[in-house]
Amino acid sequence: MLYCIDLKTNEIHVLGCRYIPSKHQDKNFLGRFNNPDDAIAEAKFKGFLDVNACFYCCFSTYMK
Ligand SMILES: [Zn+2]
Repeated sequence: MLYCIDLKTNEIHVLGCRYIPSKHQDKNFLGRFNNPDDAIAEAKFKGFLDVNACFYCCFSTYMK
């Protein structure tokens, strides 16, 4: 799965999620990961400290 981050809310999304912001400057591509947890780890590595998973496309991680 390909993941990106919403730069306004720091939410992780699977590419294609309808809740990804439409403006290019409001999102940042993270890369390909096997699960949202790995995408969150990458986001934290890139400096996004307070990262959340999207309720809609990363539900299993959102509940943690
Ligand atoms: Zn999403």
